[in-house]
Amino acid sequence: VKSTDILAEAEKEVRAWSEQRGSLVAQLKKQEKFRKEFIGNVSHELKTPIFNIQGYILTLLDGGLEDKSINRNYLERTEKSINRMITIVKDLEVISKLESGELKLMHERFNITDLINEVLEMQEMRAHKNGIKLNFIQRVDAPKFVYADKKEIFQVLNNLIVNSIKYGKDKGTTTIEVMSMDNKALIEVRDNGIGIESDNLPRIFERFFRVDKSRARNMGGSGLGLAIVKHIIDAHNQSINVSSTYGEGTSFTFSLDKSK
Ligand code: ADP
Repeated sequence: VKSTDILAEAEKEVRAWSEQRGSLVAQLKKQEKFRKEFIGNVSHELKTPIFNIQGYILTLLDGGLEDKSINRNYLERTEKSINRMITIVKDLEVISKLESGELKLMHERFNITDLINEVLEMQEMRAHKNGIKLNFIQRVDAPKFVYADKKEIFQVLNNLIVNSIKYGKDKGTTTIEVMSMDNKALIEVRDNGIGIESDNLPRIFERFFRVDKSRARNMGGSGLGLAIVKHIIDAHNQSINVSSTYGEGTSFTFSLDKSK
């Protein structure tokens, strides 16, 4: 073996190693940026309700306590802010479990019609309060049974249906439709609500992404609902698509494995 060959071989190895190191550093930098952004977002989300609560309590301590009507009103507002923080913290727990791969999916056969009806029943009050009609359509060929993690799919349906109500228009309708395509069940949740501009559509599944921040916060969400939905569908190796027309409405469709 010639010494030049050995040298060339060594040089090749060093180059490969340095390239590998470079990509590892880039990956770490990306993760670090992600982590910083995430912490920034979380503290920002929690800051609003905490400052609100502080404001309500200060008003009460500042003499508001003597006034019965102020009393009740400010305590109710405090409760609302606390509920918001609970939603955020619960969703953070869910997303951290999903992202760390801690969540082990159950693969079970269940009746999708029953599950949708359960979610609809749970959201009936909210829909009524927002002036939204809930409509469930099952095509003749719609599959009855699917194979997935029932609890997680409940969460997917719930998040999509809650959104369709929150971002719906008064006297609007949320429609849930189950269809069949090859060996898949397709489930669509559509509304005739405010819609999403096409520029914003590609970012809709990002954590904390919101089209209208103040409107969304007033509605009481965490900004994590759709990120959770996407994670759960990905973990099932299924797909989810969104289409929307600004001012007219939005539709989310996801797939599940059919079961006999
Ligand atoms: P949020 O807690 O803000 O609702 P999500 O992750 O569930 O968080 O949704 C992210 C954003 O996507 C919302 O803030 C809203 O701007 C938009 N969005 C979600 N669903 C709909 C819908 N059905 N119609 C219109 N906009 C929607």
